[in-house]
Amino acid sequence: MSPRVVVLGAGIAGLVAAWELALRGLRPLVLEAAPIAGGRTSTWRDDQGRTVDTGLHVVADHYLNLQQVLARLGVADRLHWVEKHTYLRAGRAPMAWYFSPYQPPFHLLRPAREMPLAPRTRLRLGRVALLLASMDQADLAALDGETYKQWHDRMGLGRDFMLELAEAAGDAATFLPVDRAAARAVISWLKYLMRHRRAGDVGLFRGTMAEAFIDPLVREITALGGEVRLSSAVTRLILDDAAQAPRVSHVEIAPCRAAGPVHSASGEPPVADGRESIPCDHLISALSVQALQHLLAASGERLLDRAGLGPMMGLTTTPALSLIVTFDRPITPVPEGAPLCTGVAMRDFIDMKLLGRGGLVPGAGSTYQFVITRSDRRIHDPDATIVADIVADLVSVWPGARGAEVVSYALERVGAAMFAAVPGAHALRPAVTTGAANFYIAGDFTRHELNASMEGAAFSGRRAADALLRALGRPGLDFPELPDTTMVPLLRAARRRLARSLT
Ligand SMILES: Cc1cc2nc3c(=O)[nH]c(=O)nc-3n(C[C@H](O)[C@H](O)[C@H](O)COP(=O)(O)OP(=O)(O)OC[C@H]3O[C@@H](n4cnc5c(N)ncnc54)[C@H](O)[C@@H]3O)c2cc1C
Repeated sequence: MSPRVVVLGAGIAGLVAAWELALRGLRPLVLEAAPIAGGRTSTWRDDQGRTVDTGLHVVADHYLNLQQVLARLGVADRLHWVEKHTYLRAGRAPMAWYFSPYQPPFHLLRPAREMPLAPRTRLRLGRVALLLASMDQADLAALDGETYKQWHDRMGLGRDFMLELAEAAGDAATFLPVDRAAARAVISWLKYLMRHRRAGDVGLFRGTMAEAFIDPLVREITALGGEVRLSSAVTRLILDDAAQAPRVSHVEIAPCRAAGPVHSASGEPPVADGRESIPCDHLISALSVQALQHLLAASGERLLDRAGLGPMMGLTTTPALSLIVTFDRPITPVPEGAPLCTGVAMRDFIDMKLLGRGGLVPGAGSTYQFVITRSDRRIHDPDATIVADIVADLVSVWPGARGAEVVSYALERVGAAMFAAVPGAHALRPAVTTGAANFYIAGDFTRHELNASMEGAAFSGRRAADALLRALGRPGLDFPELPDTTMVPLLRAARRRLARSLT
């Protein structure tokens, strides 16, 4: 008989884990609190009947697991890859941002030439770039004790454009300012860009995330015999520790009353009366960090202790806002690529026409989607204030938007957008296996070299499926590896030799 496998959460991590298992003959049951699948990448109808989502979700070139899943699902052509981007800051002309068409490290020549830097900073930057080039992603864990800003100052990289650029990178990688984000998290993202000349390309999903990715994934799981049960919130895990090795024997669920995504900072889903107990042989939690923390707290100290999950209770989260605005007229010209901004509240924005998507009001002008990070305080502001501030920001960085009036907007407050990658957080990220023999953990926040991202989620889901399959004595999964086309292996060997000769 096929073992009963239960997966908690139908975000990318949970769906990818369930799909990998279903492909190998298991029949996973996915339990999801929200009435839609997709988690932070879900698409839903709001109370005015409009199709909205949380975005903008861009795919980086190093997202190998995610791209592999898209290719195997037959939806890779949903990604529209862009090479050139627009870098924006108020009061300065837009800067085109792209790499030179040469082998690394010479692909960095163009951005290095464009950067308005003092000669001394330029020299320092060269030295730091060499140091970074000699490290691989695993080495960066050692940089988790300090903020990016502390590291930047320690390296003497100055306060000018380099810090500004790091702010944009830090924001993209962690949704935090550089004086809060851990150096590891920011630098790991910058390092991915050093690998090759296409490393700065980003993929934009054509259409909604539901059409492009989530619905095809759910359909496949179901076609393979799995089940995705929506509006079913997990409220408690029941531990059986009578046996020698503790196991989770049952999952308690309740009907969930949420009408849209479930991503409050408390992690507590809004549930109605009525409890059902579901037995499981194997359990994968692919909940968001705050939801798992809430569930573990509700399941009692004993589970937390036996599963060895105490440290992850120390992880915190950071909020974000996702805003879609339809204007009364087309905004021209359209900024190239996925524009990255500094010095303003929004992280990035996109004209939704580039994604082949219509507006909130048929026949009106341009529709823009904005991601607003570092929004701890702003998230409590009234809608009208947030919209007015963001439109003012847009005008300040993209003068083409001057005079455009807001016709309609949809604002989503994401109480917990990501785990907060502050110094020390990396060490608290939980491993895929736990002290309970049949209990695995997936999710963008689990311990791996990637930051919280769609790739982190896809990788973690595949890793949990791999661990479970191996525990069943079956072959595991193959993981794609990032080819190292840089001088990293050479420089690493030289650095190690130097370190040895100094000790
Ligand atoms: C505004 C915004 C912009 C972003 N932009 C990007 C980007 O450009 N590129 C990128 O790579 N990443 C981006 N991200 C991050 C990315 O969305 C996440 O890292 C990824 O989607 C996380 O997937 P996950 O499966 O780990 O978690 P989630 O998607 O959070 O899935 C967890 C699931 O658990 C469910 N759940 C919660 N509680 C319960 C319960 N009690 N019972 C049952 N189910 C429950 C939730 O409803 C959810 O479906 C962005 C995130 C936000 C918020």
